[in-house]
Amino acid sequence: MIVNMSDNATEQEIEHVIERIREAGYQPHVTRGTQRTIVAAVGSGRRHEIEALQVAPGVDTVVPIAQPFKLVSRQVKPHRTVVNVGGVPIGGEKVVVIAGPCSVESPEQLLSTAQAVKKSGASLLRGGAYKPRTSPYDFQGLGIEALKILREARRQTGLPIVTEVMSTEDIDLICEYADMLQVGARNMQNFALLRRLATIRKPILLKRGPSATVKEWLLAAEYLLAGGNGEVVLCERGIKTFETETRNTIDLAAVALARDLSHLPVVADPSHGTGKQSLIAAVSRAAVAVGADGLIIEVHPCPERALSDGPQSLDFAAFERVMRGLSDPLRGIASA
Ligand code: PEP
Ligand code: MN
Repeated sequence: MIVNMSDNATEQEIEHVIERIREAGYQPHVTRGTQRTIVAAVGSGRRHEIEALQVAPGVDTVVPIAQPFKLVSRQVKPHRTVVNVGGVPIGGEKVVVIAGPCSVESPEQLLSTAQAVKKSGASLLRGGAYKPRTSPYDFQGLGIEALKILREARRQTGLPIVTEVMSTEDIDLICEYADMLQVGARNMQNFALLRRLATIRKPILLKRGPSATVKEWLLAAEYLLAGGNGEVVLCERGIKTFETETRNTIDLAAVALARDLSHLPVVADPSHGTGKQSLIAAVSRAAVAVGADGLIIEVHPCPERALSDGPQSLDFAAFERVMRGLSDPLRGIASA
């Protein structure tokens, strides 16, 4: 339920509503806009007590929310959220490109990639230190050694760092090195991890699970917001379908839908979303056309030697071409 305060509601009236929401068994979440204040009643409590606030002083309307996610919903916060990642705003006017290797493999590999992607216009550096691999025999990431290399890359280039966290045990350590923590697709519904990440003061990149609905994805984000971390960026990275020619099926309609349903920024991952170097340029352009606030793209100095995700990684020249292609206009429409 949402309580919309009237434009001229006093601080005392707002406090009264907050108090009543608590008494009714809900958690109050306050959004103060320039014009008016909105108080959301989150959780489960005595609904009729909230409905009755319709007649409390300073209240304009009380509206039930149809969606199960509340804090993530645009009904609670009609204006778009801008998430600041080490000084880079995601969700603002400009499309933000996050680029770098799937895994950090060596200082030379990461540092050369960081310099190259920066030169081509990326504003954040990605690189996995802890890798979720389908097989336990595959390269699992360099762990803390990779975090140190990422820190050096930030020192040299100024690019803020995005890296994946797989376990609650690693959160404190990763927070010392990274500017944004990625929750991988396989962990989207790792609720223990989400609950802990809700308590930290770092932005989160929340990937959509390979078989998660948009509703489940937004409810996963709700865990973060409800627990106190509002700095969340959603990431569409492709879902499992019957198609086998692409690694995953990137759901671009979901990018537009998530932006319709939620105020959170949404980025697209054409690398995991297609699994194919040859499709990255076109899908990146398409993602921006449907409204993506950013892109996350895998780049490697020599994709054929990559320890993970080589087939979908771009070399420096191909990444430069993708970046240049992003500003090409769409084709003209023939007139009758
Ligand atoms: C990655 O970004 O390298 C990764 C493992 O992504 P996902 O969780 O989307 O598979
Ligand atoms: Mn990868």
